[in-house]
Amino acid sequence: MTTSTTNNKPRALIIGGSLSGLFTATTLRTIGWEVAIFERSPNELDSRGGGVVLQGDVLSAFHFAGVQSMGALGVKSGDRIYLDRDDRVVQRSYMPQSQTSWNMLYSTMRQHLPAEIFHPGERFVRFEQHGDRITAHFASGRVETGDLLVGADGPRSAVREQVIPGLAPNYAGYVAWRGLVPEKELPASAADVLAGTFAFQQGPGHLLLEYLVPGEDQSIQEGHRRWNWVWYLKVPHGEEFSALMTDRLGGRHAFSLPPGSLKDEDVANLMRKSTALLAPTFQTLIEATKEPFVQAILDLQVPRMVFGRAILLGDAAFVPRPHTAGSTAKAAANALALAKALQPLGADVDEALSDWQASQWREGIGMTEWGMRMGDRIMGFERSNVVLNAV
Ligand SMILES: Cc1cc2nc3c(=O)[nH]c(=O)nc-3n(C[C@H](O)[C@H](O)[C@H](O)COP(=O)(O)OP(=O)(O)OC[C@H]3O[C@@H](n4cnc5c(N)ncnc54)[C@H](O)[C@@H]3O)c2cc1C
Repeated sequence: MTTSTTNNKPRALIIGGSLSGLFTATTLRTIGWEVAIFERSPNELDSRGGGVVLQGDVLSAFHFAGVQSMGALGVKSGDRIYLDRDDRVVQRSYMPQSQTSWNMLYSTMRQHLPAEIFHPGERFVRFEQHGDRITAHFASGRVETGDLLVGADGPRSAVREQVIPGLAPNYAGYVAWRGLVPEKELPASAADVLAGTFAFQQGPGHLLLEYLVPGEDQSIQEGHRRWNWVWYLKVPHGEEFSALMTDRLGGRHAFSLPPGSLKDEDVANLMRKSTALLAPTFQTLIEATKEPFVQAILDLQVPRMVFGRAILLGDAAFVPRPHTAGSTAKAAANALALAKALQPLGADVDEALSDWQASQWREGIGMTEWGMRMGDRIMGFERSNVVLNAV
């Protein structure tokens, strides 16, 4: 089946229906483009993901595209506190911010977009460009044409693999253990210490952080939210990393294991480490977590983001360390800048893409470099040797 636009609007084929794909769809529609999103997964994605620090770029993209949420998008925190191993607050400073969740942002954009632009269960395989037109081929046999192909297909992007074969994310030598605990399920001894704060424990070669995020039903009402935690721990490259990335059924995962899939021995190991290294408040938090999950920390930088009428954005282009709290913001900023560059309809698309790349590539390099420096310092690593290729 071959389809292309049925009207005079330019058409974007967006590969990947996660946050980058949705930011791109909402902002491009606003400037009059027709958009179609092709997502490999046949199911809704909204049950995945944990907490996300709510940054101004996300709000700017929402504002530009007229995306409205049912209520507040995030949970506010006031003080940042650092606990030591004995649960003493060793540092406290007032740094107000808001925290949201991956599924809050996803569902809010999903509801804003018309259902007919979504094409789940469509795995992109390759594209070709003829003049200004681009044709995308999918594993199902589907063929689509458009004026722009947007690779919003994440760290293991198939679009990137075609344009920069062999460029893959590097494992940074540590993982983020993560968990979410319904607000009421955390014993009062811990809840009283953590309430209203953004809390940390920095130990030798590890860092834990915790903050409240909206509930699974997106409620930000007290009692209905979730405690979200992330604990960075070293796992050496090689056998140990490979064993951790193997799930309870023996399946090997590239970089992350979703809730419920970890082996019992790995969860037991997490609990042992928690008892050995963490403040009692954080031990209680981790013990209260029913299904912890784990993500490898990755580094990725592309030498270019524009390849004719195919572009890379979000995590397909740059994967910053999570300490920047900026990946989602970067996805939003990439999408918003793209829409602004392509305005008004009829503008020279190639020129717009070139301008867009010049600004967004620099931002991506800046954020990933800063994240690597920060992450390596937190974990006590020597500076990573990253080879960069200028645009
Ligand atoms: C520990 C940790 C903590 C984090 N904390 C934060 C935080 O505090 N703040 C923040 O901003 N960000 C955070 N992030 C990152 C954030 O989750 C992502 O950066 C953000 O969701 C943008 O991702 P994306 O849409 O570009 O890619 P992804 O979310 O990876 O989505 C890519 C999509 O493309 C689909 N896809 C892949 N291949 C194909 C194909 N061939 N055909 C069709 N579809 C395909 C996938 O199924 C997927 O849905 C964190 C990440 C980690 C690991």
